[in-house]
Amino acid sequence: MNSNSPITSLKGIGEKTGTLFHRIGVDTVGELLSYYPRTYDIYEKPVTFANLEMEKPQAVTGFLRKAPDTRKIRNLSVTTCVLEEFGAYLHLTWFNMPFLKNTLTPGSTYIFRGRVQKKKGRMVMEHPEIYTPQAYEELLNTMQPIYGLTAGLSNKTVTKAVRQALDSLELNPEYLPNEIRTRQELAEYNFALRAIHFPVKKSDLILARKRLVFDEFFLFLLALRQLKEQAQVQKNECVMERVGETMKLLASLPYELTGAQKKVWEEIQSDLSGPKVMNRLIQGDVGSGKTVVAVLALLSAVANGYQGALMAPTEVLAKQHMASVEELLRGAHLQEEIVLLTGSMTAKEKRQAYEKIESGEAKIVIGTHALIQNQVKFHRLGLVITDEQHRFGVRQRETFTEKGSHPHVLVMSATPIPRTLAIIIYGDLDISVIDELPANRLPIKNCVVDESYRPTAYRFLEKEIAAGRQIYIICPMVEENPELEIENVVDYTRKLRETLSSSITIEYLHGKMKASEKNEIMERFVQGVIHILVSTTVIEVGVNVPNATVMMVENAERFGLAQLHQLRGRVGRGSHQSYCIFVSASDSKDTKKRLEILNQSNDGFYIASQDLKLRGPGDLFGLRQSGLLEFRIGDVFTDAKILQTASEEAGKLLKKDPRLECKEHDALNKKLVQYRESGLVKMSL
Ligand code: ADP
Ligand code: MG
Repeated sequence: MNSNSPITSLKGIGEKTGTLFHRIGVDTVGELLSYYPRTYDIYEKPVTFANLEMEKPQAVTGFLRKAPDTRKIRNLSVTTCVLEEFGAYLHLTWFNMPFLKNTLTPGSTYIFRGRVQKKKGRMVMEHPEIYTPQAYEELLNTMQPIYGLTAGLSNKTVTKAVRQALDSLELNPEYLPNEIRTRQELAEYNFALRAIHFPVKKSDLILARKRLVFDEFFLFLLALRQLKEQAQVQKNECVMERVGETMKLLASLPYELTGAQKKVWEEIQSDLSGPKVMNRLIQGDVGSGKTVVAVLALLSAVANGYQGALMAPTEVLAKQHMASVEELLRGAHLQEEIVLLTGSMTAKEKRQAYEKIESGEAKIVIGTHALIQNQVKFHRLGLVITDEQHRFGVRQRETFTEKGSHPHVLVMSATPIPRTLAIIIYGDLDISVIDELPANRLPIKNCVVDESYRPTAYRFLEKEIAAGRQIYIICPMVEENPELEIENVVDYTRKLRETLSSSITIEYLHGKMKASEKNEIMERFVQGVIHILVSTTVIEVGVNVPNATVMMVENAERFGLAQLHQLRGRVGRGSHQSYCIFVSASDSKDTKKRLEILNQSNDGFYIASQDLKLRGPGDLFGLRQSGLLEFRIGDVFTDAKILQTASEEAGKLLKKDPRLECKEHDALNKKLVQYRESGLVKMSL
C-alpha cells in the first residue's frame, strides 16, 4: 500500500464505503491522510449543572433515579430522562434509541456528555453520549478527531480508516530543506501528520498544525511564484488599443462610473495596450460594480478582433452575466454574438456552442467550468475573465488561460483581505481595488433578532412586497433533519405559504435541485414573478437582483461572518433602502457578540478583521472559519503570520535555486509537482 492506493485497499472499506469517501473528496489513502479533522473533542472533567455553558460539548455526572421514558412522536421514538443536582434540572433526550430504556439502570451514576441548549426555559442535552464513570476516566483529557462527514459515513469509520492508514503506510521522506525547518522551528512531517489526526496533547497539536499550515502555504506560494515568473516574461501578443465602442458603452450607462471604477478601467486599458500581457485581480466588496468593468474589457477585446471569455462559478451566475452583458450592449446599440456554455445544456446545444466558439462566430463567451473542458476550442481568444475567483483553483485559472495563446487575464473577487495578504496570495497578479460603492446606495439597515421576532418580520416583508420589492430568506438546510432544530428551505417555504397572504408567490432554491429547475426559479425571481425566494446559500455569490431589498437569514448563528456578509451583499444593489434581518436561534453570548459585528458595519474588510479579533489568532478550533480561499488547513486570516514566513522562505529558496534543481531539493520538487497536479484550491460548487 502507498499513498496512491485506492481507499478501498484499507481493511474494512468496501465499494459502498468507498463511494461515501468519494463524496467527501477522498479516493486514495494519501487523500485520506490529508483529510484533516475539522475540530477535536476534548474530554474534560464533568461540570456541575450550575456551571454548564450553552452550545458547548460538556460532561455532567448524573445519578439516575428512575428508568428513562420512551414515547412515540410522529414516527420518531423519543427517550427522555431528567437529572437533578442541588435543585437544578437537566433534561436528556435521545431520538430513535428506545433500547436505552433497558440499558440505563436506575440507581446508577453515569457520565453524560453533549451540548446543552435552553428550550422553553429548560436546560436540555440532546443525544448525549453515555459513559460509566470508569470509562470516562480513561478518556479524560484526550482529544478525539472530528471529521467532516456525509450521510452514511460515521466519524468512527473515518477515524478507524485514518488510524489504519497511518499504521500501514511507510514513513514519508522529509521534503522541507533542513535549513528552513530549523529556522522556522517546524516539526517533522510524519510526526505532524500523526499528531494532527491523533494529538496526544494540545501542544503536539499546535506544533503539528503549524507545520502543516506552513507546508500548505509554502507549496502554494512556490507554485504561484513559478506561474508569476512565466507570466512576467510574457510579452503582450494580443495588443488591444483603446476603441470607440467602450466609450459608446460608457455613454449609454444609466449611471456614471465611480471614481474607483474609472481608475481600475484605466489600469486595465493600459495593460491591454501595453508591452506585457495582463494578469490582474480586481478586488471590490460586494456591490461595488465589478461586472461593468469586466464587460468593458470584453468589449475592448472584441472591438480589437479578439474573443473574450468570462467564467463564473455557478450556472445561475453565468446566466445572469449573460443577461447583463446583453442588456448593456443593447443599451449601447452594439451587436456582438454572445454565447453561453454551461453544464446543464443539452448535448446538441453544447455542440452548437462549441462550433460557434471554434469558428470565431462567438465573440463573447460566458459560462461555468464547462468553458475549460477539452472540447472547447477558441478561434482567437484574447482575454479570459474569472468572476468570484476564490471559487476556483489556480489550476483552473491556468487551464482557462491555456485556451488561448497568452491571452490577457482578469480575475475578480469580493474577498475582503488586506492588501499585504492579497499581494502574497495573489502573488502572480497585479491588484486593482474598487474601494468605493456607487453613490446612489443607501447603507443597508441591519438587525439581529431572536425567533420571537418572526411575526413582526413577516408583517414587514408583506409591506415591502406591497411596495413592489422582493425578498430573500436563507435557511441552512435543504430538508428536514429530525435531530436538528434547524430551518430547512422545503418546510420553511411550506409554512411561509400558509402564514403569508396567498397573493404572495414564494418559491425555494437549493443546490440539490436540477440545474434547469434552479435556472427557471432564478429567472422568475429576476423577472419579479417570485416575491420571496427561500434559499440555501447557493445564492451566496454574485447574484444581482437590484429590486430585492430584504435579506432575512434564519439560524444566522450557523454561518460564518464572511459568508453572512456575502449574503447581505445580495441586497442594497439598487436605489431602494435595503434591510438585513439576522434571526438567531441561539442565546449564547459569543454568538450575539459575533453577529453584533454585522450589525455595526457594512464593510467587508472591517467585518473580517473584527471576526479575527474576536476569535484571536491561533484559535485552534476555529480552523478555516473565514471561509475565504479553500485551503485545507491554513486560514489566511488566523495564520497570517505563517503565511508571511512561508512567503519569505519561498522567496529565499527560489532565489538560491529557481528551478529547484539542486539534489537536496529533489524531494521538495517532487512534492511540488504532485501538488500542482492535484489542483490547489478545491472547487466548491
Ligand atoms: P459586484 O461588484 O458585487 O459584482 P455588480 O457588478 O453586480 O457588483 O453591480 C451591482 C449593481 O450596481 C448592479 O445592478 C450594477 O448595475 C450597479 N452599478 C454598477 N456600477 C454602478 C455605478 N457606478 N453607479 C450605480 N450603479 C452601479
Ligand atoms: Mg459580481
